[in-house]
Amino acid sequence: MKLIVASHNKGKINEFKALLEPLGYEILSASMLDIDMSGVVEDGLTFADNARIKTKFLSDITGMAVVADDSGLCIESLPDILGVHSARFMGEDTDYQIKNNEVLRLLKDKENRNAYFHSSISLYGLGVDEIFEGDVHGVIADAIQGEGGFGYDPIFVPNGYDQSFGTMDSDLKNKISHRAIALKQFIEYMKENS
Ligand code: IMP
Repeated sequence: MKLIVASHNKGKINEFKALLEPLGYEILSASMLDIDMSGVVEDGLTFADNARIKTKFLSDITGMAVVADDSGLCIESLPDILGVHSARFMGEDTDYQIKNNEVLRLLKDKENRNAYFHSSISLYGLGVDEIFEGDVHGVIADAIQGEGGFGYDPIFVPNGYDQSFGTMDSDLKNKISHRAIALKQFIEYMKENS
């Protein structure tokens, strides 16, 4: 069966390929089908809404089943920034060193540094409309820690660990992350339904 990944991000497409091709799925992407997704407005109020906006857009055009994910960092003391706007905070092209330093500055006098990463995966099309979700809870560090990972990894320390996602071995991060939890549920569903 063919399945489209609603993303232009090569890393994400390869991650879905590695997980789904062994189950017999042929993975296509928006680029392979020459479909431009730059006009898709991700204006949902939740991660699940935004993931579904992307899958519905491509499924409506192609009539095929589509998968997409949407994720971000939510900080309890700063509810109005990041969240579904995580990628757009201070502008999409702004360096994460600058974004992470700004988050640390905004949290400087706050006692509550609790935060969590969230991931929602939407599977939509051919009569299916499912959402799979994952969270990893932790705290925002006092300073930038490490240069590994991407995005907000260097300022996020998951509960039960004393290292940020930016210093942690990537295999360990990929086992405990919000995306790993959502992907596990998604793969279980795909195994049961393939
Ligand atoms: P998207 O789901 O690819 O649109 O990602 C949203 C944004 O959330 C990313 O650009 C990052 O800023 C942030 N983000 C999501 N997942 C992670 C993660 O695992 N580590 C660091 N930042 C993340």
